[in-house]
Amino acid sequence: MSIFDRFLPKKKPLEIKNNIPKEKETMKKAFGIYCHKNHGTKDDKLCPKCTALLATVMTKMNRCPYGITKPICDRCEIQCFGEKQTKEFMKIMSSTGTGMFFRHPIMAIKHKMASMSVDYSKHEMEKKQQEKAKHKEKLAKEKAKAKEASEKKK
Ligand code: SF4
Ligand SMILES: [Zn+2]
Repeated sequence: MSIFDRFLPKKKPLEIKNNIPKEKETMKKAFGIYCHKNHGTKDDKLCPKCTALLATVMTKMNRCPYGITKPICDRCEIQCFGEKQTKEFMKIMSSTGTGMFFRHPIMAIKHKMASMSVDYSKHEMEKKQQEKAKHKEKLAKEKAKAKEASEKKK
C-alpha cells in the first residue's frame, strides 16, 4: 500500500444482484399471456394446469443449486423441472416472446438481454475449451516429433 492510496477512490466490493424476483415476475406475465391465448382464461389468470406448472417452477427456483448467480431458467443446462414440465415450460417461454414484447416491452427486452448474455458466456466458454484442446493437441504432436527425432539420432 503506497502513501497515495488514501487519496484514490476506494474500490467497491463486487455486488451480485439477485435477479430472481424479476425473473419470476417475467415468468408470471409470460404464463398469463400463454394461458389466456391457449386456454381461454380471463386477462392474466391461469388455468389449473398452468398454475401447477408455475408453482413447480417457482419452488424449483427457490431451491436452485446456483443460488442468486443462476442463469435464467430457459437458458439453463440443468433444467431441473423434470422432463415433461421442462418441455411445457420451454414451450410457454418461447411462444410468448412477441406477446411479451407488446404487453411488457421493458421486461421482454431485459429477459432477451439476459438470454443473450448467457448465450455469450456459453459461446466464450466453448471457445476457450476448444483453444485449450487445440493447444494440448499441438503440444502432443510436438512431443511426438521430438521423440521421433531423438530415436532417429540413436
Ligand atoms: S432450471 Fe436451472 S436455473 Fe432454473 S431453477 Fe432449475 S437449476 Fe436453477
Ligand atoms: Zn393454462
